[in-house]
Amino acid sequence: MVSREQVLEALGRVMDPELGRSLTELGMVRGTQIEGGKVRVGVALTVPGCPLRNKIRDDVVAEVGRVPGVEEVEVDLSAMTDAEREALGERLRREMARPTGIMSPASRTRVIAVGSGKGGVGKSTVTVNLAAATAAAGREVGLLDADIYGFSIPHLLGIDGTPRAKDGKIVPLESHGMEVMSIGFFLPEDQPVIWRGPLLIRALQQMLQDVEWGDPEFLFIDLPPGTGDIPLSVTQMLPRSALVLVTTPQPASVQVASRAGAFARRANQEILGVVENMSYFVCPGCGRRTHVFGRGGGEELARHLGVPFLGEIPLTEEIRSGSDLGRPVAIYDPESEAGRAFAAIARRLTG
Ligand code: ADP
Repeated sequence: MVSREQVLEALGRVMDPELGRSLTELGMVRGTQIEGGKVRVGVALTVPGCPLRNKIRDDVVAEVGRVPGVEEVEVDLSAMTDAEREALGERLRREMARPTGIMSPASRTRVIAVGSGKGGVGKSTVTVNLAAATAAAGREVGLLDADIYGFSIPHLLGIDGTPRAKDGKIVPLESHGMEVMSIGFFLPEDQPVIWRGPLLIRALQQMLQDVEWGDPEFLFIDLPPGTGDIPLSVTQMLPRSALVLVTTPQPASVQVASRAGAFARRANQEILGVVENMSYFVCPGCGRRTHVFGRGGGEELARHLGVPFLGEIPLTEEIRSGSDLGRPVAIYDPESEAGRAFAAIARRLTG
């Protein structure tokens, strides 16, 4: 038995080539009749002499024909009335002019992007733990991995699986009390991402717009290191987003991080402050603190940028193993020195 739902689902995969939206989304489907294996579909084109009518017809026949049990597909093409066409045009214009969901100016979500000058300073580890500490404090949290080339959030949280689609949107995966999205959920682990500018930007836009984020209180974004297309696009697509910079205490790391700060400034992005990671190592035997990477880099960066210094995170074996096991220390050992440090910074950021 062929069901109407199956036919509509198939029609949801047929795109209007010019508008890039499905026939169902555009309200172009005009009734479906199912008699045994024979399906008749009515489609109202946006204009009567639509030059793409044959392509649309062929695509409908192909997609509906793929539904199990369908033997024959007939397509009745008609055209929208002037009033219908105008209403659709108005709707599309409104949607384009007014970004929806998390990108909408009306969204209550506070977006906190976490960036760094270079890789390896622990930016992703800090992002995950700040987000996790915020969720553990009972707040609603989304976490977006925008480090598209070097995605690591799935690994840091120990999650995999492919998000499902619902009503044309992608549903984020739930982990440790957060809603999580990463390009890594869609790519095999060994496949390199070789996208260039426009595709990266499109991927970011999809992860913001086509994902069902709901309306969380906070969205943490793990930015790629440096000052490329993605950090810039975040400032443009989310003009009210704010930045947290992560650095290690070393002078070289501070210097590159200050470039990322200057970049955000130029893009008018608010900088909430600086987190210094790997600040010191506490000897598990004698409790003595060693400043493995030197001292004071984070404070110096904060002073240089004229922003608050948010705090220090120690270098600990637990943070490293927690990352490798997908068990963020902010959740699994909140009373440890590292756990308390993350919680204190998260509280400063989220009020
Ligand atoms: P980035 O996102 O800046 O490239 P990551 O967060 O991926 O850096 O961290 C790089 C490595 O350093 C990871 O193996 C991580 O577990 C480890 N790491 C990060 N911060 C700490 C820390 N404070 N103590 C111990 N290991 C850390």
